[in-house]
Amino acid sequence: MALILTRDTERFEVPDRLPVLPLRDVVVFPYVVMPLLIGRSQSLAAVDTAAGDGNVVLLVAQRNAEQQDPAAGDLYRIGVVARLMQVVRLPNGTTKILVEGIARARVTRYATSGGMLRATIAPEPFVDPGEPGDHSALGRRVLSLFEEYVSLHRRIPAEVVTLVQATASEERQACAVAAHLAVRHDVRQTLLDAPTLPALLTQLAQLLAAEIEILRLERKIEDDVRGSLFQNQREFYLQEQLKAIHRELGQEDDDFGELEAAIEKKALPEVVQARAFRELRKLRRMSPLSPEATVARNFVDWVLALPWTERTDDALDVAKARVVLDEDHYGLAEVKERILDYIAVLSLVGKLEGPILCLVGPPGVGKTSLGRSVARALGRRFARMSLGGVRDEAEIRGHRRTYIGAMPGRVIQAMRRAEVVNPVILLDEIDKLGQDYRGDPASALLEVLDPEQNRTFSDHYLEVDYDLSHVLFITTANSLSTIPEPLRDRMEIIRLPGYLDMEKQAIARQFLIPKQIQQNGLDPASVTFEPEAVSAIIHRYTREAGVRDLERRLARVARKLARRRAESAPAAPIQASDPAEAPATEVSVPSGKRSRSRKVASVQTAEAPSPAAPQVVVPQSVGPDDLRMLLGVAPYDPDDTSLEDKVGVATGLAYTSVGGETLEIEVAVVRGRGKVQLTGTLGDVMKESASAALSYARSRAAALGIDRDFHRSRDLHVHIPAGATPKDGPSAGIAIATAVISALTGRPVRGDTAMTGEITLRGRVLPIGGLKEKSVAAHRNGIANVIIPYGNARELEELPAEVLAAVHFHPVRTMDEVMAFVLRGVAAPLAEMPITTAVDGAAVSVAH
Ligand code: ADP
Repeated sequence: MALILTRDTERFEVPDRLPVLPLRDVVVFPYVVMPLLIGRSQSLAAVDTAAGDGNVVLLVAQRNAEQQDPAAGDLYRIGVVARLMQVVRLPNGTTKILVEGIARARVTRYATSGGMLRATIAPEPFVDPGEPGDHSALGRRVLSLFEEYVSLHRRIPAEVVTLVQATASEERQACAVAAHLAVRHDVRQTLLDAPTLPALLTQLAQLLAAEIEILRLERKIEDDVRGSLFQNQREFYLQEQLKAIHRELGQEDDDFGELEAAIEKKALPEVVQARAFRELRKLRRMSPLSPEATVARNFVDWVLALPWTERTDDALDVAKARVVLDEDHYGLAEVKERILDYIAVLSLVGKLEGPILCLVGPPGVGKTSLGRSVARALGRRFARMSLGGVRDEAEIRGHRRTYIGAMPGRVIQAMRRAEVVNPVILLDEIDKLGQDYRGDPASALLEVLDPEQNRTFSDHYLEVDYDLSHVLFITTANSLSTIPEPLRDRMEIIRLPGYLDMEKQAIARQFLIPKQIQQNGLDPASVTFEPEAVSAIIHRYTREAGVRDLERRLARVARKLARRRAESAPAAPIQASDPAEAPATEVSVPSGKRSRSRKVASVQTAEAPSPAAPQVVVPQSVGPDDLRMLLGVAPYDPDDTSLEDKVGVATGLAYTSVGGETLEIEVAVVRGRGKVQLTGTLGDVMKESASAALSYARSRAAALGIDRDFHRSRDLHVHIPAGATPKDGPSAGIAIATAVISALTGRPVRGDTAMTGEITLRGRVLPIGGLKEKSVAAHRNGIANVIIPYGNARELEELPAEVLAAVHFHPVRTMDEVMAFVLRGVAAPLAEMPITTAVDGAAVSVAH
C-alpha cells in the first residue's frame, strides 16, 4: 500500500512498510541531507532492500546507542522517511550512504524479516496540510536566537545562519535549526517528537535560550580563566622576551647585577642609594631600547660616577704652599700673599666659610693657572668651569630628567670631573655671565657659592641634594663692572693688573720657555733664547697685558725648532739644502761653548762631519734676527706710538677689559660753523668728556689765546682710534681737552707724556680708576711722563717699583696745570709751574 507524504508543497508517494535503518547518536530531520556510515548487518540489509525498492528507508534513532542489534523496543516510534541519494561501498566493508530526510512518520508496527526490521508507518507531518497557520513570528524569534547561538558556539560555522535564513518556510528552517543544534541525541529526538510546528518552534526557542545562557556562562568562565592565565603568561612571556633582548644587546643579567653591586659598594648617602636602587628596579622591568630605560640608566651612571663621599686630604702647610705657588708663577707677590692668607685661615678654621676669591685681570695674566696652583698647593683636585656666555639657569642647575637628553648642570659636571667632594673649582669668566628669559644663572650661582645654601645644592637632573660645601671655589673675571652685584658682595677681589716688560721677560725665561722646550721634546741644554729675542717678541709680536700671546709665539718658535731637529739627521745636523733655516742653527764647538748665531750654512757645507764622527748635539739658539723667519713679519712696529711732539694729538690712557692701553686722541680744526664731530670708539661717557673739554676750552679761550668765537667759526673733529672700548669713559677728559686746545692754538703736545683724568666744566681734574693698569701700559709704551689726577696720588705707592723708577708721575688738580706741563710754548698766564708731590716718601716730580 502506498502512502502520500508531504513536505512543504512537495508530495511523495512511498510504501507504508519500509526497511528500518536504526541510527546511533544521530537524529535526521526532514529536508536535511546527511552522510551516514553504516556497517551493521541489519543496516546493510535495510539499505540493500531499499535499493531494490524505491530507494526509501525509515530512519529511526535508537534509544540506547550502545545497542548493537536493536530490536523493536529499542527504537523510538517517530522517525523520518528518507531517500537514499548515494550508496558507496568502502573497501573496509562499511558503506557510506547519503540520505535526505523527506518527512516525519510514526511507526505503527515493527516486524522482523530478512535479518532486519521493517516498520509500518503513518504520516506524522509537523503541519497539517489542511491548516497551515502563520508561524512567522515564532520562526523569526527562533532565527534570531539561532543567530546568537551560532555566534557563541565555536564549532558551528557562521555561514550556517545565512543558509538557514535563506530557506523558505518556517518548517524547513525549524528542521535545519534542529539538525544543527549541538545537543544530545535524546534531546534532538524530543524535537523530532514535537507534535506540531509551533510546538517544535517553541521548544527550539526554549532550548536555544537555555543553550545560549549556558554558552554565555561558559564563555565568561573561559574568559575569566583565560584572563588570569593570560595575565600570568603575559608577564612571564614578556620577561622572557626582555631577557632575550638584554642578551642580544650583550646586557646579560650580570649587567644589572654589576650595577647593583656597584651601587651597594659605593659610599652613597642613604637617600641617594635608595634612589639609585629605585631606578635600577625600574630599569630591570623596562625594555633596554625604550627611551625611559636610557634615562634611568643615565641617572644610575651619574650617581655612580659622581663623588659623594670620596675626598682627598688637604695639605694645609702654608710654607709648602708658598713653595708651590712660587714654583708655578713668577712675581705676583701680593696675589700670592692673599692666597696664602686664605690657606692659613683654612688650616686654622678647617672650613671654607668666608668670601670667595675672585681673581680679576686681563687675559693671560695667569688667573686660571693660579687657580690650578692653589689646588696643587692644597693637595686638592682641580676642575675648571667656564661661565662665559651662560645665560640659562639650567646650565648651572641642569635640566629636569623629563627633557630629552637632559644632563646635570655644569657644577655637577665639574664635580664628576673632579671625582672628589673637595676639589678646587675655578669658575672662569664670572663677569661674562648672561641673563635672559630662561632664568637668572647668577642667582643659581649664588646658591652654589653660599656656604649656607650649598650644602644642599639642588640640581634639577639629580633631584637629590648635593653637598658642595667642601669645594673651594675660586672665580676669575676680566673686569668687575659686569659682575652681578650680589655675587660681587660675596667675593674677595684680588687684582692682577698685567705685567711689565721686565716681568714678561722673567716669566718667559723662567716659565714659558722651559715649558715649551719640554712640551716640544727639545733638549734644554742645547736650546737658547737670547734675551734680545724674547724682548723683541714681547715688543714687536705681542701687545697684551698678560703673557698668553707671548706664550703662543714662544710655542711656535719651539715647534719650528723641534721640526728642524727632527728633520736633521744626527750625523748631519744641519740640512745645507735648507739655507733659509740655517741661520738659526749652530754647530757645537769642542769647547762646549756656543758660537754665536753665525750664518753657518756655508760653513756647514764645507765642514760636513764625516759619517764616522761622533753624534753631535745640535745647539739651537734663537736671536732677534731669527724671528722674522720663525714668526714672520712683526705685526707691531715699535715706532707705532710715536713719542714725538705733535699738534692736535694727545696720549690718553685707557683701562679696558684687556688691561691698560695708551689711547692716541686726535683733533682736527677746520673752518666751519661750530660743528663738533666725534668719531672712533666713543661711548656716551666719552662724548660727555669731549663736550666738557670743549666747554672748558671756550671758558679759557682768552687766557689760552684762542679765538673766542672758535666754536662758531670752526668745526672740530675729535677722533679716538678704534681699539678695545675703555671701561672708564670720563678718564679721557684731560687728554681730549689737551688735544682740542693744541689743535686750536697750534701748539704741540709733548710726545713723551700720557695723561689720564676726568675734567669738569671749569677745568678741575677728577680721579680715575685703573691707575695700576694704565701706568703699566704707559711704561710698556716707553712713555716718560704720566699726568694723573691729584686724587689718585695716594695709589702711586702701590705701583710696581720698575714703573716708578722709569716713569715720572705728575699729579694735578686742574687743567691749567696740565696745559702748563704738556703744551709746548704756552704763553702766560699759564706759566709753567713745577709740580712736586711727595707721595709717602716717594718723591714724584715733574721732569722738565
Ligand atoms: P688667564 O686665566 O688670566 O687668562 P692663564 O692662566 O691662562 O691666564 O695664563 C696664560 C699662560 O701664562 C699660562 O700658561 C700661565 O701659566 C702663564 N702665566 C701667566 N702668568 C704667569 C706668571 N706670573 N708666572 C708664570 N707663568 C704665568
